[in-house]
Amino acid sequence: MIIIVFITLYILSQFILLLLLPSDDQETYERKGNAGEARVSTILLKQQDRDFRVFNDVLIRTKRGSTQIDHIVVSTYGIFVIETKNFSGWIHGNEKAEYWTQTFYQTRNKFRNPIRQNWAHIYALKEVLSDYRYIAYYPVIVFTGDGELKNINSTVPVVYDYQLLDTIKDLRGVPILSEEQVACIADRLDSVNIQDREAVKEHVYAVQKQVYERKQKEKSLICPRCGWSLVIRNGQYGKFYGCSHYPKCRYTQNLRD
Ligand SMILES: [Zn+2]
Repeated sequence: MIIIVFITLYILSQFILLLLLPSDDQETYERKGNAGEARVSTILLKQQDRDFRVFNDVLIRTKRGSTQIDHIVVSTYGIFVIETKNFSGWIHGNEKAEYWTQTFYQTRNKFRNPIRQNWAHIYALKEVLSDYRYIAYYPVIVFTGDGELKNINSTVPVVYDYQLLDTIKDLRGVPILSEEQVACIADRLDSVNIQDREAVKEHVYAVQKQVYERKQKEKSLICPRCGWSLVIRNGQYGKFYGCSHYPKCRYTQNLRD
């Protein structure tokens, strides 16, 4: 009897936690994210020119839904697509991993790999700019705030905000677009950028729902990529969850999650 009461209380507490946590997290994330984005916008806008066109917080709609891109620079060298993260603590991450980790004293948080997020943004951009096939796209991940990049394994630049302009300079090769072409692409971006606030709200809601559904899938051991069940596997570094659709799906997640 006591056990049943205990289990019921436990389930109830988990349920309440679930109800309380996501909105709080989302809100602090958004506030911190906005501060970081504002900082990077300021850095980029100082360089704004006819051949260095800066776009901040762009929302575009593609066949797969809508995508929010923190910063886009359209230049004669190509398009720089910048994802901003405003985190404290130590940041660890691998280009190929699903998640990166932030360690802060004793706590460890995981967050979506920003490089993967950025590739999805570039993919969406290519779709709306499909008339311009010769464009070069350069992904850059920028960390603002007092976080420390500890162990980053990536071929895509992952830099602090004060390194951003130098990184852009280092990445660019020879000019491939004329000023007229830059103007055309900038106009196109202006026209596809969704300004209406209802659409933005809808987008935020869709993202929250996606994150929630993903978490639910991970908890109930369903592969968030393909929907097959997750099974325990033995790897070189111990046990982990792997997708039962392997080798077609290579999704994995940590056992303790
Ligand atoms: Zn799978």
